[in-house]
Amino acid sequence: MNNDIERVLYSRDDISKAAHRLGQQLTEDYKDKKPVVISVLKGAILFTVDVIKEMDVYAELDFIDVSSYHGGTESSGKIDLLHDLSTEISGRNILIIEDIIDTGRTLKYLIDLLKQRNAAEIKVCTLLDKEDGRLIDVKADYIGFAVPNEFVVGYGLDYKELYRNLPYVGVLKPEVYTDK
Ligand code: 5GP
Ligand code: MG
Ligand code: MG
Repeated sequence: MNNDIERVLYSRDDISKAAHRLGQQLTEDYKDKKPVVISVLKGAILFTVDVIKEMDVYAELDFIDVSSYHGGTESSGKIDLLHDLSTEISGRNILIIEDIIDTGRTLKYLIDLLKQRNAAEIKVCTLLDKEDGRLIDVKADYIGFAVPNEFVVGYGLDYKELYRNLPYVGVLKPEVYTDK
């Protein structure tokens, strides 16, 4: 699997330092807020685990699964809700944890959904921010890395459901897209 990677963008150590930095900031910002941390499946799961361990606050954890990609490398534009929350979020302070914000469609969908359900506050923490991909004006409040406009995999991010278990974020060799 590691042989399919052309280049590492963010190493295990880079990511761990970013999780620590964000965790310190979140500890400060959420000390009196008892947030519901909403991890967006499946991509954000590794990042969520690392960040919440660095947050010294009372926090609930829940998961939501939405899909826009359907396996390829281009966003399809249509969002499906695949798995809903189990927490009542009306009046709660929400921290969404995402793997990557690209066009912004997924995040817009999530924010609208949580607003409809009367969340008190919605903030967003993302491992990667692909600002050049943005089609909808949404912003993250906490960002691990600003990532160039390339398709990346690893540390939760997949290509055709593979590579999520790489401990770093990298770019695939071009031949992988044609082989698999
Ligand atoms: P958006 O709705 O902002 O266009 O895309 C968000 C979702 O698309 C992410 O949560 C992720 O699942 C997928 N995505 C966007 N860019 C990339 C990328 O570079 N690599 C991978 N593996 N997924 C991406
Ligand atoms: Mg995601
Ligand atoms: Mg995907």
